[in-house]
Amino acid sequence: EYKQKQHEHLYKVLMIGEFGVGKTSLIKRYTEGTFSPNYKLTIGVDFAVKNIQWNEHTKINMQLWDIAGHERFGHMTRVYYKYAIAAVIVFDLARQATFDAVVKWLDDVHSKVVLMNEEPVPCLLLANKFDLEEISLNPDHLDNFCKKHNIIGWFPTSAKMGIGLEEAMNHLIKHIVKLE
Ligand code: GDP
Ligand code: MG
Repeated sequence: EYKQKQHEHLYKVLMIGEFGVGKTSLIKRYTEGTFSPNYKLTIGVDFAVKNIQWNEHTKINMQLWDIAGHERFGHMTRVYYKYAIAAVIVFDLARQATFDAVVKWLDDVHSKVVLMNEEPVPCLLLANKFDLEEISLNPDHLDNFCKKHNIIGWFPTSAKMGIGLEEAMNHLIKHIVKLE
């Protein structure tokens, strides 16, 4: 009996953005389906993996890298970025300064890593803490921002409520799969 070969891919994806925007919470939500209001601040680099049966013959292991405290320095070392195939930049909808810092993180990624074919790594933008009441969201502004900075898309998310993340990551995976 003929059985189609299973392909398995490991993708290293970086989660970056300012301190407190919810990077660790989003990784926990995505890989474990849980939320806890206070994750301990651990210094170091850490990652978690989510296994996805993408289609009948493709398995994807999404390896999400957490910068765990290093965001305080405003940038990461080249070693952290090595072999990354994509980046997710997170900001906090309730703190404008974290959005203002997105361009800085974008520059940091693009200056330190490129794909094997020398193309820039695809970047996704997450507008996190969508569950909070005091937020204001301007979709047109974010659309234009993404176009201007060559970001593949933005999604409102809530690590707390588990909103938007699956959809956002699937959007990213579609881009990554096309690269191969
Ligand atoms: P990091 O520094 O970017 O890793 O951020 P954390 O994941 O540690 O989250 C910082 C704080 O924001 C914590 O108190 C989280 O519980 C909280 N937080 C994270 N995501 C959300 C969210 O979607 N909604 C709300 N309301 N709080 C969140
Ligand atoms: Mg963290």
